[in-house]
Amino acid sequence: MSYRGRFAPSATGPLHLGSIFAALISFLDARFHQGTWLVRIDDLDTFRCKPEYSDVILETLSAFALVPDQPPVFQSTRVDAYHEALHTCIAQERVYTCTCRRNDLPRGPYPGYCRHRLGQAPLPDTALRIDTQGLVTDYTDHYQGPVAPENPGDFVIKRRDGLIAYQLACAVDESLDQITHVIRGLDLLNSTAMQQWVRTCLNQPTIMYGHFPTIHGADGSKLSKQTFAEAVDPHRPGVTYSNIAQLLGCTHDLSPEASASEWIHYFQSLGDPVQFLPKTPHLLADAQAE
Ligand code: GLU
Ligand code: ZN
Repeated sequence: MSYRGRFAPSATGPLHLGSIFAALISFLDARFHQGTWLVRIDDLDTFRCKPEYSDVILETLSAFALVPDQPPVFQSTRVDAYHEALHTCIAQERVYTCTCRRNDLPRGPYPGYCRHRLGQAPLPDTALRIDTQGLVTDYTDHYQGPVAPENPGDFVIKRRDGLIAYQLACAVDESLDQITHVIRGLDLLNSTAMQQWVRTCLNQPTIMYGHFPTIHGADGSKLSKQTFAEAVDPHRPGVTYSNIAQLLGCTHDLSPEASASEWIHYFQSLGDPVQFLPKTPHLLADAQAE
């Protein structure tokens, strides 16, 4: 099957340095493998996502010359498909009602307090968990090599507020979009076993996952929309791209005023991202302050 990759930003705010980096690496990985590159807007969480953020994200990506090969897809248009997948899992008697409150649960894998409900019809207006007996988390990552993330235990696939959980939605999306390569930041490594597990339950084939280092702030904290991470300037993509080149320790003769396409051309000339990315788990962005 030919390579199909994607970038899947959440519509919870404009793109920051870390998100442009994630978009760039998944794009470069797809291009290096002569693959197709897609953009999916994760806007399922109607409490946190706003349509104006989707617009800003798509405009910013095109200002950065990161243009998907097909029109972007939106999770919010796929709710029926997610519910169908949920019902497949329920029909397999792999799903149970969980009435635990967050405060009742210890940190780490779910201890299975509600597992005795496995096999019973799910109750309405409650969270639903999926039975993970038999789940193996170790696999060979495209960027990290062999990894063995913590076992998540039975995880939530439908939230108490009725929303389909990201793990289920994302697993279904990769099938709908026929994704072969999920290339994303290391902050999402722990999601992989859960998403693969849902795919297994839905009889979908195993796909390639690759997790590259993420960009953290100078203080070591993850850059995120929830923290101080400032939006990139769509009018000056070269400024962000030169920050990225600096973080990667790559030499070049482009100025921050060079066009987005010139920068993309340069990054593509570096070859396989697996080779040129540093092996550290994250890159520290002191350049953020500029
Ligand atoms: N939208 C999610 C995020 O931005 C998922 C990304 C992914 O699976 O690549 O964290
Ligand atoms: Zn419970």
